[in-house]
Amino acid sequence: MRLDTDPYLARYASRVQGMSASAIRALFALTARPEIVSFAGGNPAVEALDLEAAEAVAAAVIRESGAIALQYGIGQGRPELREQLVAVMAHENVPGHVDDLVVTAGGQQALELIAKCFVDPGDIVIAEGPTYVGGIGALSSHQADVRHVPMDAEGMQVDALEDLLRQLSAQGRRAKFVYTIPNHQNPAGVSLSIDRRHRLAELAEQYDLLVLEDNPYGLLDFAGRLQPSIRQLVPDRVVYVGTVSKTFAPGVRTGWIAAPHPVRDKLVLLREAADLCPATLTQMVVERWLATQPWREQVKRFRGVYQDKAEAMLGALDEHMPGGVTWTRPSGAFYIWMTVPAGIDTSDLLAKAINHRVAYVPGRGFYADGSGGDQLRLCFSQPSPERIVEGVERFGALLHEELELVRAVYGAHAPAAASRPNEGRGAVG
Ligand code: PMP
Repeated sequence: MRLDTDPYLARYASRVQGMSASAIRALFALTARPEIVSFAGGNPAVEALDLEAAEAVAAAVIRESGAIALQYGIGQGRPELREQLVAVMAHENVPGHVDDLVVTAGGQQALELIAKCFVDPGDIVIAEGPTYVGGIGALSSHQADVRHVPMDAEGMQVDALEDLLRQLSAQGRRAKFVYTIPNHQNPAGVSLSIDRRHRLAELAEQYDLLVLEDNPYGLLDFAGRLQPSIRQLVPDRVVYVGTVSKTFAPGVRTGWIAAPHPVRDKLVLLREAADLCPATLTQMVVERWLATQPWREQVKRFRGVYQDKAEAMLGALDEHMPGGVTWTRPSGAFYIWMTVPAGIDTSDLLAKAINHRVAYVPGRGFYADGSGGDQLRLCFSQPSPERIVEGVERFGALLHEELELVRAVYGAHAPAAASRPNEGRGAVG
């Protein structure tokens, strides 16, 4: 069998033909080495959890309700869990009722089911640019035509969204939905301003638009501030996605969708086709965690951990980055988005960064259209503040060297990083 071609190629469905694993994925494998400070994966700091309490909760579920916990459940998810999740939403001022919710295997399965529910090949979906890698993955696997709307420090530029909506409507086309991560966006580390939330809600009414609101990070605002959700503003136009991955643990793979009931019914059927029902055991663990543990305090602890790390990183960036490099200043969660000067391509730079014992995610993976070659994501959730400073020092030294090289080769006329076709996707949270 030849190794350079896939003998099964002609058999695949068209949605799979264009899929490939990222060349960068191999490099990510190296980032697990202890000598490397990794700002790559978006893993939450689960070590900040009360693991003894988690153990007690998991043991009690089996001890007290083992025969239920180890049995199939219903496709929509356990009503007892949905009730707890409604309380989580209420803590964030997001309206919801147990009947609105479908429990999913994390927010990721929610995005996949929603894409499956709405997207035919070639359908237009509007997303922030940059946007969540896994969101692009879910949309691309259903062959969506993803159009990006640029962002700035206040999140998605809603004026640009309006221009795009107008343009599409002049062509007699419409987007299936707008995908937004309004709070502490992955990867940009910015939030949609209040004015823009209201404007987005107005545009949804005006253009008869559906909004996919993905909210893993809303409770992780460093100051505990809460912004109005889009679901709060225009509930009938929003399919809302939540997850316990960032407020409890991603290992339980528990998320949910809150949707208007006709959409909810379709989603339940789709999830039953995919995996019959959510895992009963982990549903019951999450349910019991939320019902019996001081999870609001736990969320506060997470916030404090991330705030310390964010401060360490922002301070180190101010100190060690060369002129011309810019970055966002997050007020919650764990991402910083960086733009580097012309002449540097962040995909090409990654191998050198790993040699300098520091890692990040290159920007192109966060766009469906191959742009983002001059951008990158830094995630500060995992390393300690001391290691963060060390990693930023190393990365700053590398960028200083690179810029000297760029100046020596191009003078003041370095080329901008070119757009490249989709590099393929790797699993980066
Ligand atoms: N949406 C966004 C914006 C994310 O950053 C992530 C995970 N990093 C997810 C959804 C999916 O997370 P999970 O499946 O663990 O809930």
